Amino acid sequence: MAGRDTPVMRQHADAKRAYPDAIIFFRLGDFYEMFGEDAVVAARALDLVLTSRNKSQVDEIPMCGIPHHAAHSYLARLLEKGFTVAICEQMADPAKCKGIVPREVVRVVTPGLVTEQEHLDSTTNNWLLAAEIAPGGLGIGVSLLDLSTGELAATSVADTTALLAEVGRAEPRELLLGGALEPGDSLERAMRLVLPRLVVRSDPDLGEQEPELDIPSADLAEFSAIELRSVRRLLRYARACYPQHELPRPRLTRWDSETHLILDEVAQRHLELVHHAGGDKHATLLAVLDQTATPGGARLLRRRLLSPLRDVARIRRRLDTVELFVVHARLRSELRRELATVGDLERLAVRAWMGDSSPRELGALRDGLLAAAKVVELLSGLKEQTEREALGLQTGPVDLVLDLSAELEKALVARPPSQSKEGAIFLPEYDAQLEECDALRRTGSERIVALEAQLRDATNIGSLKIRYTRVFGWYVEVGRSHAGRVPSEWRRKQTVATGERFTLPELDELAEKISHAEEHHRERELELFRQLVELAGAASERIRELSQRLSRWDVAAGLAEVAHRHDYRRPDVEDSTRLVIHEGRHPVVERLTALGRFVPNDCGLDSNEERLWLVTGPNMAGKSTFLRQVALIVVLAQMGSFVPAASATVGIVDRVLSRVGASDNLARGESTFMVEMRETSRILKTATRRSLVILDEIGRGTSTYDGLAIAWSVAEYLHDAVGCKTLFATHYHELTELSRTHRHAANYSVSAKELDGDVVFLHRLVAGAASRSYGVAVAKLAGLPEWVLARARVLLSDLEATGTPGKLPLSQAEAAPQLDLFAARPAEPVVAKAELEHLRQLDLDRLTPIEALAFLHRLKSQL
Ligand code: ADP
Ligand code: MG
Repeated sequence: MAGRDTPVMRQHADAKRAYPDAIIFFRLGDFYEMFGEDAVVAARALDLVLTSRNKSQVDEIPMCGIPHHAAHSYLARLLEKGFTVAICEQMADPAKCKGIVPREVVRVVTPGLVTEQEHLDSTTNNWLLAAEIAPGGLGIGVSLLDLSTGELAATSVADTTALLAEVGRAEPRELLLGGALEPGDSLERAMRLVLPRLVVRSDPDLGEQEPELDIPSADLAEFSAIELRSVRRLLRYARACYPQHELPRPRLTRWDSETHLILDEVAQRHLELVHHAGGDKHATLLAVLDQTATPGGARLLRRRLLSPLRDVARIRRRLDTVELFVVHARLRSELRRELATVGDLERLAVRAWMGDSSPRELGALRDGLLAAAKVVELLSGLKEQTEREALGLQTGPVDLVLDLSAELEKALVARPPSQSKEGAIFLPEYDAQLEECDALRRTGSERIVALEAQLRDATNIGSLKIRYTRVFGWYVEVGRSHAGRVPSEWRRKQTVATGERFTLPELDELAEKISHAEEHHRERELELFRQLVELAGAASERIRELSQRLSRWDVAAGLAEVAHRHDYRRPDVEDSTRLVIHEGRHPVVERLTALGRFVPNDCGLDSNEERLWLVTGPNMAGKSTFLRQVALIVVLAQMGSFVPAASATVGIVDRVLSRVGASDNLARGESTFMVEMRETSRILKTATRRSLVILDEIGRGTSTYDGLAIAWSVAEYLHDAVGCKTLFATHYHELTELSRTHRHAANYSVSAKELDGDVVFLHRLVAGAASRSYGVAVAKLAGLPEWVLARARVLLSDLEATGTPGKLPLSQAEAAPQLDLFAARPAEPVVAKAELEHLRQLDLDRLTPIEALAFLHRLKSQL
């Protein structure tokens, strides 16, 4: 088999040609071998020893291999690293094959299209996303497939920012980019910034002949051409990855962002809905909220959290269900206990559809269906019409797929094995043929025992034994010393240290029967197993429907549990412009950093009344927390959850837009100010009267005057032109002047008091602007050396005493409180611009007292 040009290596080359982007796992006997570049890459990724085929010849080929039975763990590691693997199998038994064994790629394993539990996270969907860019930038078709749950959805979005929002929400494992992509398009880079581990493929053109869309859909005409093209791209890719499978035919549903509360990628990130900026898994809204008991429930909750609704009636229906489980506490705990044993019916159903179920998975399906039946029985104890409606039970009995669960119960042993070839899958009485084979096997061994006794008697050798090994089959063994007493018609098979091994016609005949029974038994088991998988596959749609019902109850019961534990209340959701919250809390901060000492705050915004709140207060007072908590309460209310507040009235919001902090985008290699302005510009362009905008200290990334001027005009624009509800936290005290001239603007501040130079945060929001910023007190809290603090106090009082407001705009935090930017600027700035810059860059930690004095002297001399 030397050389590149052997029949086997030609097979390999064919496979590689068909799947150039994949690492080929090439089956050779008991190994999967990798050759050439694949071998080099895989050896590095998997820590394998790299050897080579045709060593010391000109056409030496790098190679490495893994035992086929261990392939799963290696595959998982490659997938984790974003590789794609094509599995090229032997298509016939080499022992029964004349000439070369045929080999074919049976499956391409790629992160976006796995269905095996071990490659999946049970609490999140595993989306493959296709984005189809229309020529001339006229929209983008977006479709999403989770093969593991059988879900398929399509929509279109206007531009790449909206596409990024979808990518941020779905967090696909893999993305196909196609259509009118410019070469060197930055889109791919942008995607990777949102999701560093995303596998992005530029998919070749679909070509003239677009594949048929063989899927059930209420109405394909409902979808635009560009949307359908992205669906085709998705399905073509899926089919190519499963050349030997029939894929499920998922129902195509429309995902319409217009019917949802829009949270763009920035807002998703800033609000820390499912990810925490610092990577703390517990510090997200999802972590606080997720008390679901099933994987399907966990996935649904995550989706609802990232796409809250706008439809008052639908939201109220969800709230009704949550309320039902808040009221019926006993039922809730029983329900959650049952749900915990249901497992992942949705994914098990898809595995069956694809014919890939293992005996263990069918066992799990059986157990899950039985648990589901108990859940439904529990809930059918509720008889009132309103209660049945809240559970979606008013339309009649639930399909529990009892036909299948009964069959599985009849067929399978309690704990079926993980692989069908291990055998011992079925209860013996399940099938007459199986029972017969089993009886034959049993009588076979009984007859061996009988034969052994009979031979002992006949030969009078007490130590005579009949034994079995895999290599020699059945034999009679007698001790050396007795070998002479053996009848002459026995044939000697082997001599071992302990004695002699013989066989005889009677034993041969019996052995033949036993092995036949074994063989038959195995074949019959495999046949029955295939039938059972097929039966389950045929029921998969019904199982998925049942599972989705369970997920909805699970989410509602989980949210009720959270409401009960953390004292959330049902919000009044209505079609208005109001947002009124009494004693609202931040759901995450109250559980973590401020556990047990969180100070609730009110909020009362109305697009027609007070719609712009300027929130001031010292650093660390709780401004950012307040802004986010208001946004989070809106998200919670519109996803249909109770909220952390004494009461809340939420008029439907169409989008939550945020610009929070100036910190996190440095990793993206853009200047903070640029990012800040880009995000702000997007907010101004997309906000409507129905939106909630939270702006946290915008203008930080630039000089004081620039920053203040921009903050000021942004606030005015939102107030005058957009008319949305806005919370604006700012360190520019000057901004609070806005409330005098703008009817819908009001000042609030988060209070603090100073005690002996120490600042005490009260975290309470009160009407009116903050009187001062406590910068020096906060600096003390941060542990600045005492002499620096003392000097700073002197400097501050000096500045406050001598500086006319507006004349000494120092660093932002210490800016004098009454500076009126748009009043006449001082004709000649008292402090030279260079000095200002100098002051800004002053490193107080390194400054010696002499230097400080010298600087002060210089300032003073300019007065
Ligand atoms: P700011 O934005 O005003 O600088 P933050 O909102 O970042 O302040 O709050 C700083 C810290 O104060 C938070 O991490 C939290 O621990 C605490 N905090 C904020 N708001 C409250 C509150 N309402 N009750 C109790 N602690 C709070
Ligand atoms: Mg802040």
